[in-house]
Amino acid sequence: MIQYSLQCSKGHRYDAWFKNADAYDQQQARGIVSCAVCGDGAVEKAPMAPAVARTDGEKVSLSSGSAEARRFRELLRAYRQKVMSEADYVGDKFAEEARKIHFEETEARGIYGEATRDEVIALADDGIEFMPLPDLPEEHN
Ligand SMILES: [Zn+2]
Repeated sequence: MIQYSLQCSKGHRYDAWFKNADAYDQQQARGIVSCAVCGDGAVEKAPMAPAVARTDGEKVSLSSGSAEARRFRELLRAYRQKVMSEADYVGDKFAEEARKIHFEETEARGIYGEATRDEVIALADDGIEFMPLPDLPEEHN
């Protein structure tokens, strides 16, 4: 078995396994290699070892290509849409509002918004429940 990093014409990258290099060439020649993300047939081998890093230099863990990954991403998208349609947007007052709700100083409700890294750490230290709203890469396209 041989693993290739593949990239479609829209820039999606994923890893795929082939029996050997010839099997990849044959499948590619027959046009049956398609993007695991969008189904695009214009797929080619991506340059090896892509380093994906955030601006602060911290590496993030990623996966791609499995049916489970696709379903999970759909769930995340549905979750994000549900939160955004049902919860109150509180902007950069997220930490303040989450704390008020936690200490029952205001009505209990779903909220979403932004917080700084320090605020997030403080919320976690106070035992306040929250989770990151998933930000899906393809939404930036
Ligand atoms: Zn694609």
